[in-house]
Amino acid sequence: MFASRFAPSPSGYLHRGHAFSALTAFKAAREAQGRFILRIEDIDTERCRQEFEAAIFEDLAWLGLEWEQPVRRQSDHLADYQAALERLRADGLVYRCFKTRREILDEIARAPHGPETPYRGARLAPDEEARMLETGAPFAWRLSLEAARARLGPAWDALSFTEEGAGPNGEHGLIGARPETAGDVILARKGLGVAYHLAVVVDDALQGITHVVRGQDLFEAAHIQRLLQALLGLPTPTYRHHRLLVGPDGKRFAKRDRAETLREIRARGVSAAALRNELGF
Ligand code: GLU
Repeated sequence: MFASRFAPSPSGYLHRGHAFSALTAFKAAREAQGRFILRIEDIDTERCRQEFEAAIFEDLAWLGLEWEQPVRRQSDHLADYQAALERLRADGLVYRCFKTRREILDEIARAPHGPETPYRGARLAPDEEARMLETGAPFAWRLSLEAARARLGPAWDALSFTEEGAGPNGEHGLIGARPETAGDVILARKGLGVAYHLAVVVDDALQGITHVVRGQDLFEAAHIQRLLQALLGLPTPTYRHHRLLVGPDGKRFAKRDRAETLREIRARGVSAAALRNELGF
């Protein structure tokens, strides 16, 4: 059965861009007489706050959205991500990365092809790793693209996903996945045991998401997520990346630009119907 989701992070109040995305995913589910799921992506414990989560429920209800209960909150399911990571670890597909952000930035700057080179960490030799572990230094887990490629063999080149919307450069239809452009992505952040790509892939599968409807800014993420699905033996949803909403200045709505929040819009006395209309719904 068709199932789409809206997966905000409670690290700020929702703005028009979120409303557009949520309405797009909700409408897709309604048109397909399918399920609409709201998921709270709060693994970034430093930035996420309970108060923002409560505001998400309130704002989306005000907009007229209805979603399945109970709502999955990622921080309540760390064991699921741990199990997926453990599986990748047992298959030799991830490695510990002890580097600091500073060291990584320096390395990228010195990369042979310039800062555009996707970051490849380096698996430490077993004795070096043992020494680092003894120091108690924190580490992240990175996906080894080299090991993943070896593991998949010819299936690596055949990795693809269906794009029913459009990528930022008009990508549409059957897309060949290029996970190598992302480099050895972090699957578990230092001290957290999980990171964005891993949590999303596990949740989309667990929640039976058939259609990932989200903004074009996440198009590149689909490439690496497609690879993770293959490595974990999970089904691949269809993707529908939508255009990003831009403000009168032509810039996209983003939290950091201090875009007007839905609560501020509401406080101005704008009705939900008027906002839906403005957004084309
Ligand atoms: N939580 C992500 C965000 O707030 C969205 C993840 C996704 O749709 O895959 O941008």
